[in-house]
Amino acid sequence: MMRAITLSENSVKNGGGPFGAVIVKNGEIIAEASNCVTIDNDPTAHAEVSAIRKATKKLGTYDLSGCEIYTSCEPCPMCLGAIYWAHLDKIYYANDRKDAARIGFDDDFIYQELEQKPQYRKKPSEVFMQAEASKAFDMWMQKDDKTEY
Ligand SMILES: [Zn+2]
Repeated sequence: MMRAITLSENSVKNGGGPFGAVIVKNGEIIAEASNCVTIDNDPTAHAEVSAIRKATKKLGTYDLSGCEIYTSCEPCPMCLGAIYWAHLDKIYYANDRKDAARIGFDDDFIYQELEQKPQYRKKPSEVFMQAEASKAFDMWMQKDDKTEY
């Protein structure tokens, strides 16, 4: 965790957001990253997502079972989703979503949005062309040699 915190501090000095993350397997750091949203013009370049990308590339797998993530702040909903998709075993975090809200980040707001039904969220969304899109799902279900994840 101390490494993740150091990354978050270095990130502020280098023009990134105040977030750092480290992925560990068997007690060894296999990937680390800091927030590069404004540096890379990439709103998905959060420390956790970037660390996951580095770890999966290094290990040559999309499945990070057996790994843990240390992040200087509670993962936002995007990163939490990525952590679930990557099958990381455990999350350690230092600052939390309320701490992030106090310095101007939307993590807590997005968590609140998730609790709303889609029609009540601030960001409008509507179901569109569902019947047409379901063909790919049918194809997936019928595919015998698919790689499930
Ligand atoms: Zn995030």
